[in-house]
Amino acid sequence: MSGRVYLVGAGPGDPDLLTLKAVKALACADVVLVDDLVGDGVLEHARPGARIVHVGKRGGCRSTPQEFIERLMVAEARAGRVVVRLKGGDPFVFGRGGEECAALRAAGVEFEVVSGITAGLAAAASLGIPLTHRDVGPGAILVTGHGHGDHGPDWPALVATGLPLVVYMGVARCEEIQRGLLAAGMPAATPAAVVSNASREDERTLATCLDRLSEDLLAAGLASPAILVIGEVARNAAGTRAVPAPRAQRLRR
Ligand code: SAH
Repeated sequence: MSGRVYLVGAGPGDPDLLTLKAVKALACADVVLVDDLVGDGVLEHARPGARIVHVGKRGGCRSTPQEFIERLMVAEARAGRVVVRLKGGDPFVFGRGGEECAALRAAGVEFEVVSGITAGLAAAASLGIPLTHRDVGPGAILVTGHGHGDHGPDWPALVATGLPLVVYMGVARCEEIQRGLLAAGMPAATPAAVVSNASREDERTLATCLDRLSEDLLAAGLASPAILVIGEVARNAAGTRAVPAPRAQRLRR
């Protein structure tokens, strides 16, 4: 029998946010390779007797090298086993899913990608705000606050779009992000909201504005993993308020 790999999005944490397809893939997996942002409740859907391998990493901590994960997936599939590679959120949003697909393709291993609810969307739901709103603009930008190598995001270019920013991996560099956005001309009073541990029992939210973001984040003690939403769409965000609730409930252009 030939094995295969399911690259599965586990969603933001709450097992109720798994897709039926993710649950089905877990139910038939021989091996499950798990990232550390995957909630414990999710693994309850794994087939009893499945081998569970934790291959997670947290920014700055020791991690299982990506190459090892890819080799393990290929070896297990070639041995005829069904492998579920379980990733937090969606595998194709800051999840290195592209690299894993490339490795599987190169090895000639059959695979399927199962979408998950990405943290940015879960955060928006927790805040009760849309990420796109037609009164505000034509879209939204998902961006990492971390950068790849020495190259952080081009804040002036992002600010110039006028679109709301949904920042992943932004807590550690929040102050830098805030400075970058202000320097790029984003108004100091731009609404900003934060959700840590979206959809989990320890979820926390904060509603503030750009020039108080890092200070309020620190004071509120919200920690990673967290999503920052910066832009007009965050004006009516539900969360512990660091700034008075807006009088006008209507989104402004
Ligand atoms: N593939 C994932 C993102 C991985 S990058 C997805 O689609 O959601 C890791 C970052 O995702 C974290 O630093 C944080 O910014 C965000 N994140 C993941 N889970 C989260 C959660 N439950 N609540 C808030 N942010 C989360």
